[in-house]
Amino acid sequence: MKLRNSVELVILAAEPQDDLSDCFQEAPDPELTSEDIQLRSRAVEWINPLDDEEDEVEQQPIYQVVQRLIKDAQRFKSFSSLMHLHSVKAFLELREKYRLAPRIKNPAMRASQVIAKSIGKGPYFAKKLRSLTRYIGRFRTLPPPTAGKHNAHPSLLNNERIAQAVRRYLTVLADGEITPLKLLRQVNNVIIPALGLDLAGQKISESCARRWLVKLGYEMKEVKKGMYVDGHERADVLLGYLDFGSYFDLILISLRRIYKDKDLEPIEPTLAVGEKLHIPVFHDESICRSNDLRRRVWVREGRMPLRKKGEGRAIHISDFIVEQTGRIILNEEQRKLNEQLPVDQRLAVTDARKIIYPGKNSDGWWNMEKLIMKRTLPIFERLYPGAVGEFFFDQSSAHGAFAPDALNAKEMNVKPGGKQRMMHPTFIPMDNPNPALRGQPQSMSFPAELPPCHPHYEFRGKPKGMRQVIEERGLLDYLTSVNGGKVPPGECKFCKASREKQEQLMREAQAIVDEPDETREDIPQLGTSIACCMRRFLSEQEDFKAEKPLLQIVIEEAGHKCYFLPKFHCELNPIEMYWGWTKTRLRVAADGTFPTAKRLVPDILDSCPTKTIRAFFRKTWRYMDAYRKGLNAKEAEYAIKKYRSHRAIGRNVMMSLEIMHNPA
Ligand SMILES: [Zn+2]
Repeated sequence: MKLRNSVELVILAAEPQDDLSDCFQEAPDPELTSEDIQLRSRAVEWINPLDDEEDEVEQQPIYQVVQRLIKDAQRFKSFSSLMHLHSVKAFLELREKYRLAPRIKNPAMRASQVIAKSIGKGPYFAKKLRSLTRYIGRFRTLPPPTAGKHNAHPSLLNNERIAQAVRRYLTVLADGEITPLKLLRQVNNVIIPALGLDLAGQKISESCARRWLVKLGYEMKEVKKGMYVDGHERADVLLGYLDFGSYFDLILISLRRIYKDKDLEPIEPTLAVGEKLHIPVFHDESICRSNDLRRRVWVREGRMPLRKKGEGRAIHISDFIVEQTGRIILNEEQRKLNEQLPVDQRLAVTDARKIIYPGKNSDGWWNMEKLIMKRTLPIFERLYPGAVGEFFFDQSSAHGAFAPDALNAKEMNVKPGGKQRMMHPTFIPMDNPNPALRGQPQSMSFPAELPPCHPHYEFRGKPKGMRQVIEERGLLDYLTSVNGGKVPPGECKFCKASREKQEQLMREAQAIVDEPDETREDIPQLGTSIACCMRRFLSEQEDFKAEKPLLQIVIEEAGHKCYFLPKFHCELNPIEMYWGWTKTRLRVAADGTFPTAKRLVPDILDSCPTKTIRAFFRKTWRYMDAYRKGLNAKEAEYAIKKYRSHRAIGRNVMMSLEIMHNPA
């Protein structure tokens, strides 16, 4: 049976999980953990289900199974079995108790240790208890006396009929199309029912499917050439310690709805009179390629995956996510209501998402400001009347657009005239050393009418350039004196180099960098002097500094807020996890053709449950909290892994970080 490219199937695998994508590791695809490749050398362990922590069969009434097994063991007077089974029973009871105690973080571990200790045994027995429990959960019996050797346990794959059906299924699939996820679905939904096996609802897990693939001689290979790599991966480590102080102060947490760690249901904030509900909205853009193969694919040993030429056509997506409703989109009911409104009140577009297909004869680029004004804000205001939207954007160049006449030293030459931007007039800042100049109007270009004898006659009506502007502010002498009596250049080597360096950093970030400690040293040390050159000096002037990106102006004028996320920090943007979630599913369902991808992308994007989006947010809040507590990117990552289900980083994690830093 050939697998259809159906979103339905994709959704099967898309139940919300707690451990949602690590956006800078890779998409949430369970088959793509970074350990997978390293694990090849430890394949024996990998094959043994008893060593696999995540390998639990869900929702079996295991307690009842154990009780039944105890009865059997009593009947057959099997005393060693009885000892084990009673321990398992006690373990299950205690684990249940611990699970209900919110203070206990790892109930299984703790319960197994306590039970082991109570019968005079140590950690080895505790581990054995946990393995036994998993084994019983999976196979509904105690392991045979030789258990522990991987070839001895009754794997479903030892059933010759299942093994044959699996082999046949895999042979039909082309190399590169095989995934543990597909195999799992085939086995659970097709093979087991078709063979009429009574397995008491037993299903194979994803890691089990992975082990089967290894057993059947498949291995993971990396697709290298021409693959599309998301530039954001692992870039965080480059930055080392982060200073987000002022950034986080902006966040008005108490005015937001908080979503409970446990069930992700909202808790309304208590708003004082005049306070408005604040709703964080995250934006980003992403590119899907119609021919974007999985980065690592399963192939028969010794074979290399083939890749179609080129990357395929690009699908560009711009979207927004919110915790409450997932996306900025009217639901069906709201759409119907919208259609009944008079034309002038009716929203023309009811979904903030925009997808374009750049290429021959197709859409061009979008204009972010227009998109915000025409789509996002009207829909947002319809969805959340009276609320303040806190719009978070990536600090990418696309959003760095300023009004065409904004003050911007980067658009200026040293000398007057030539090719440089016309800028709006300004006032000399109030911190000017000369009181007489403070607040004086200043034009950024020469008057259109000048007498022929005027020294700047040839530049009449043209921009003044940096030197003239600085001179008029009475600051050229100061700038010259701090530079040892020499007029500084338009742009100094240092400023030029650091910008190139930043571009280099960005390129390095795009390649995956694994030596964070070395590169960390190279981060440009800005801020030693602001008088190094005219460009830097002028851009530090209050009026230049006060210029806001156009996007921000548009949003603030509409009564909302606008923040730009620091560079290289995709973990601070939950929509990155949404992209990862989408791409994983696209890779599973896509066939490499543009029409399929074009159809699948919106379907998959739509299929992401709101709860999953809330979980993405929860992860971002956790990172923000970690940074706010002064952790660096690496530590934050550790803390979040350690303490995955809460929005704030706990004291115990902070303590273990302390120990990491200050070993006794
Ligand atoms: Zn400089």
